[in-house]
Amino acid sequence: MKIVDILIGKIKIPLKRPFKTALRTVYFAEDIIVKLLTRSGLVGYGSAAPTLAITGESSDSIISCLVNNLKPKIIGADLSNLEKVMNDLHSSFVNNTSALAAVDMAFYDLLAQSLNLPLYKYLGGYHNLVFTDLTISANSPEVMVADSLIALDEGFQDLKLKLGLNPSLDFVRVQAVRTAVGNKVKISLDANQAWGAKEAVRIIRRFEKLNLNIEFVEQPVKAKKLSDLRYVTQNVETDILADESVFSPYDALQLIHHKACDLLNIKLAKAGGIFNATKILNIAEAAGVECIVGCMLESQISVTAAAHFAAAKKSIVRCDLDSPSLLAENPIVGGAVVEANTLTLSETDAGLGIKEVLNVEYLKF
Ligand SMILES: [Mg+2]
Repeated sequence: MKIVDILIGKIKIPLKRPFKTALRTVYFAEDIIVKLLTRSGLVGYGSAAPTLAITGESSDSIISCLVNNLKPKIIGADLSNLEKVMNDLHSSFVNNTSALAAVDMAFYDLLAQSLNLPLYKYLGGYHNLVFTDLTISANSPEVMVADSLIALDEGFQDLKLKLGLNPSLDFVRVQAVRTAVGNKVKISLDANQAWGAKEAVRIIRRFEKLNLNIEFVEQPVKAKKLSDLRYVTQNVETDILADESVFSPYDALQLIHHKACDLLNIKLAKAGGIFNATKILNIAEAAGVECIVGCMLESQISVTAAAHFAAAKKSIVRCDLDSPSLLAENPIVGGAVVEANTLTLSETDAGLGIKEVLNVEYLKF
């Protein structure tokens, strides 16, 4: 199955409300769309979201990587030799993981279509749906309570609160939300690297003392400071989820070997796609470490790819695939059907099931 052309386009989608974390405030989701065409007439889709603060990629750098590094290797590539093609791509540059992920998911879309299987069945077929939490942006306690109550009303059952902008206010935020939503709702916290190691231990122990029933705390300390993450993990009762610290299978191996976290957050945009995400999952599974599948603020295409990956596998215990619920519009026709906290995948549509991208301008280069 040979690739004969690649089209690269751009879309910009407004958010329902600004997305605020300790790292950034975002008003729009921007996505780079990849459309691969095969000689036999199949069309495979992928997308990449520029997330400078996490992967270091901008729209321009993603497009540049696609045009200059990936396109020359993709045109003429035969996907029946996937192992060869992927190893060639993965060894030709470092970083640029979102750009690589967009191409990788389009490859898998095509491979599953060539067998007339939905992607989740091609990858393992364990489930055909996944459940997601909803992220609540870091805001005043009153706004976070109001957003949390709206989320429950819409049908979400698990909430992820963004924290880290002001530790003393964080206690008020979490207490206010816990009081408002009651004890049955699962609450996790994401500090997005905002705390120092000792500070994180102090803060998390205080949450524990207050009996706030926190499911896990995500990325409390800087991404590269593995020893700090280990210190936090070893000194609190609450589970610690590594997110920005785990991009590659080697990162996963290091974190697990050093017992630096309790859980791993796999995102296709960090791993470079399904090829390496599968390796991370296999390493974690062998070590008995559970994984969550997450997403950036990204389009329905890449979220659908992540949902297929997550649904296919038994050992993914939870999903954080809430981006479709944060977007005010959806220009993607097809893919996962999103109803509140449930992403359902068609049992009959082949591949990702993406039919069309509306309002996309494909670039000339
Ligand atoms: Mg995170």
